Amino acid sequence: MNTWRIQKFESFAEQDHWDLPGNLSPQEVTEILRRLAARYLTEEEVISSSLRANHKGKTDLLERVGSGPDIHIGDNPFYLAQLISGQELVEAKTCPECGHVFKGNGWDGIDAHWRAKHEDIMSYEQAWPLLQAGTYVKAASCEPV
Ligand SMILES: [Zn+2]
Repeated sequence: MNTWRIQKFESFAEQDHWDLPGNLSPQEVTEILRRLAARYLTEEEVISSSLRANHKGKTDLLERVGSGPDIHIGDNPFYLAQLISGQELVEAKTCPECGHVFKGNGWDGIDAHWRAKHEDIMSYEQAWPLLQAGTYVKAASCEPV
């Protein structure tokens, strides 16, 4: 799940930030930034910046600054919005018995791996709940030194 992070800057120091749902469109986020930036404008400035682009007296106080993927509106303070990818890397699972790393999705392949390599230590049916819970203790560590 992606997240829109909105940051408020004053004199280029971050004052605050908010995380919004990533399914908001860039247009919707731009509108939120306009409303936030407008709080620091006078009524006359809000009106002049809301005029049509070709209108005499039109100001750019609430227009996007720059053309990058990040949305930047306002002068000082200004607001910045960027879409942050929430895709977390699937944590690689490792066989606690031999250190084999399971590539792909989580424990995919543990069944065949365990039956082939470690069935003599403990049956897969016994080992699997412990592996899942992360409480499996390596057999070798139980042996007397
Ligand atoms: Zn193993």
